[in-house]
Amino acid sequence: MIRVDLAELVFLYLLVFLVAIFAVWIAYEMVRRVRENRSRKHRVRCAVCAMEFEDATPAILPRCPRCGSLNERVKLKVY
Ligand SMILES: [Zn+2]
Repeated sequence: MIRVDLAELVFLYLLVFLVAIFAVWIAYEMVRRVRENRSRKHRVRCAVCAMEFEDATPAILPRCPRCGSLNERVKLKVY
């Protein structure tokens, strides 16, 4: 039998609890980023009027629906 006093037991309990919370947090954050990147895959921001729009066509330079300018596909940053 393993002998553990009360202070060590409380410490171990807290440590395991915090590690579990941290692991769930990291996993949730990874899933959230993957989902966000997937949803932003076809999103384009116009360089002229800054409007963001979805464009799933294979066009290299998608046209902005508001101002009509051609835009490059630049990956939008996720914070
Ligand atoms: Zn525009």
